[in-house]
Amino acid sequence: MGGWAIAVHGGAGVDPNLPKDRQEQATRLLTRCLQIGISALRSSLPAIDVVELVVRELETDPFFNSGRGSALTEKGTVEMEASIMDGADRRCGAVSGVTTVKNPVSLARLVMDKSPHSYLAFSGAEEFAKQMGVEMVENDYFITSDNVGMLKLAKEANSILFDYRIPLESCGAAAVENPPLHMNGLPISVYAPETVGCVVVDSQGHCAAATSTGGLMNKMVGRIGDSPLIGSGTYACDICAVSCTGEGEAIIRGTLARDVAAVMEYKGLDLQEAVDFVIGKRLDKGKAGLIAVSSKGEVTCRFNSVGMFRACAAEDGYMEVGIW
Ligand code: ASP
Repeated sequence: MGGWAIAVHGGAGVDPNLPKDRQEQATRLLTRCLQIGISALRSSLPAIDVVELVVRELETDPFFNSGRGSALTEKGTVEMEASIMDGADRRCGAVSGVTTVKNPVSLARLVMDKSPHSYLAFSGAEEFAKQMGVEMVENDYFITSDNVGMLKLAKEANSILFDYRIPLESCGAAAVENPPLHMNGLPISVYAPETVGCVVVDSQGHCAAATSTGGLMNKMVGRIGDSPLIGSGTYACDICAVSCTGEGEAIIRGTLARDVAAVMEYKGLDLQEAVDFVIGKRLDKGKAGLIAVSSKGEVTCRFNSVGMFRACAAEDGYMEVGIW
């Protein structure tokens, strides 16, 4: 057994013009959440508790696109979704269309632990939240002025996938040095909020994954993305745990998270090889990224989008925090 490992993401598809102060803010938040996870792992908290703890923290901070700070629907409302999976026994829970639950990832955990089902959505999920006595707030709590501004820009550009439409040739390091100034005719020096996720293998070799999001800015009311879909945005088993981010429709088509585990199991690849294989074979170019750990204590963060907010660490002292 290779010891514990953890990875956190704050979303793929980063605006190449992201201002320096925003980059620093993101790095601080990711580092803080990584440290919370590392302390929990050092205190022998099981992987499933660690992923919930870290994602709750990210949901509570308005910086990324989950909980407070969630992306807005075309109607200016917030509809959040989250999922969680325990690799030790492959139990899972998910929620969609949540509008008043402060921490959707914990509601997903309750679906897993306290309901006979794996996935609850919209009014049923809200009703279950009330029954469970979780903290609930007005929908306004989740709406930030940054996101109201972003929605306006997205509407003016008639765009849903705001920062995923950057032409491929302007992606990567070159784009960071020489960023495109306009997209769909609009300046893109605006921060686009991104989904959050966490994957963990604990020192017992148990893997867990959790993902939480407001979805895509200017999405249709009722749209469900990859994040709550077990096997697409989130997956954990006794081999690995995966959390994805990026254009949900592309991730769903690629069943990205489950494919990483399947390739490891059926082709005998190690984590890094499996992730590279799946991103190369299953994911449309420029669309998404993922974080993953294996039960052997391996950890990796990979993306084919412009960037991905990420942080990871392993018991052997390895640590990485990055955006591009
Ligand atoms: N995958 C998310 C969705 O499509 C968005 C993101 O990862 O930023 O809802």
